[in-house]
Amino acid sequence: MSHPQALLRSLGAVALALFVLPAAPAFASEKLVVYSARIEALVKPMFDAYTTATGVEIQAVTDKEGALVERLKAEGANTPADLLITTDAGNLWQAAEAGVLRPVESATLEAAVPANLRDPGKQWVGLTIRARTMFFNTSLVKPAQLSTYEQLADPAWRGKLCLRSSKKVYNQSLVAMLISEHGEAKAEEIVRGWVANLATEPFADDTRMLEAVAAGQCAVGIANTYYYGRLIEKKPDLPLGIFWANQSTGGVHVNVTGAGLTRHGKQPAAAQKLLEWLASPQAQNLFADVNFESPVNPAAAPSAAVQAWGSFKASPLNVVEAGRLQATAVRLMDRAGYR
Ligand code: FE
Repeated sequence: MSHPQALLRSLGAVALALFVLPAAPAFASEKLVVYSARIEALVKPMFDAYTTATGVEIQAVTDKEGALVERLKAEGANTPADLLITTDAGNLWQAAEAGVLRPVESATLEAAVPANLRDPGKQWVGLTIRARTMFFNTSLVKPAQLSTYEQLADPAWRGKLCLRSSKKVYNQSLVAMLISEHGEAKAEEIVRGWVANLATEPFADDTRMLEAVAAGQCAVGIANTYYYGRLIEKKPDLPLGIFWANQSTGGVHVNVTGAGLTRHGKQPAAAQKLLEWLASPQAQNLFADVNFESPVNPAAAPSAAVQAWGSFKASPLNVVEAGRLQATAVRLMDRAGYR
């Protein structure tokens, strides 16, 4: 111990130990950081409930889906984030591909979330379900005229179809699932039929598209259920009907909002507990109901507002296909002239 450098080294080690040892467990049990592509208002109620139940505080950092994944990539091992919540299996798949998530072994999650709504590679799980189905103008269309996504390509719908832009991941996922079900050639034929039937240019968002259907600019369109829920809550008299697509064939296209543990989070055990709680019956309604979505956990029931739309048969395909075939879908839509 007589050498000054050796003394400094051991003092350094003591200082490090003093800093690391007491700080780590206290930090681990007190606060989790969640990167959320869902806005604050849609995640705060459930995080508050978790804090009340467990004493664990949650700091939510909200941003766009792509921006959060870019941020995780840039932060690498220094990220403060423990969990990523984002919408659409296409985005969850992108996050896994970018290497920012870590796989989780959890019998609890496997029991709570149906197998087709979680990543076979265990890097993310779906937490709420949204269907992407048909909405029609009740003065212009009888439900009996509607049947499948495929049938919207029929010339009978010429000039009567409205769609959102193909740039949105929701439509990329829908087309990816059509490719998964039918193969690329048949899927392209369907998308070409849709493009030929468009009443007007694709819309920038689902709400504008639904308003165009309600206004009679088109007879039918495809949108996520929660946009319909939000719109009808504000304007209950709109002549808009919901139609569950593909009920006598493969089932309606469903997608998820989901979450995964970050690759470099410092508190994987605590983050896993939060994720398991989010999938539990007591949290599922806090997550789903605020956005007119359905719980993934069959032990929880959808809200009364969502149940009023009626029950439906969902496609049993694994939503991971939306990500796996996303690039193929984007190229297909481009070839078919779907803007
Ligand atoms: Fe959305």
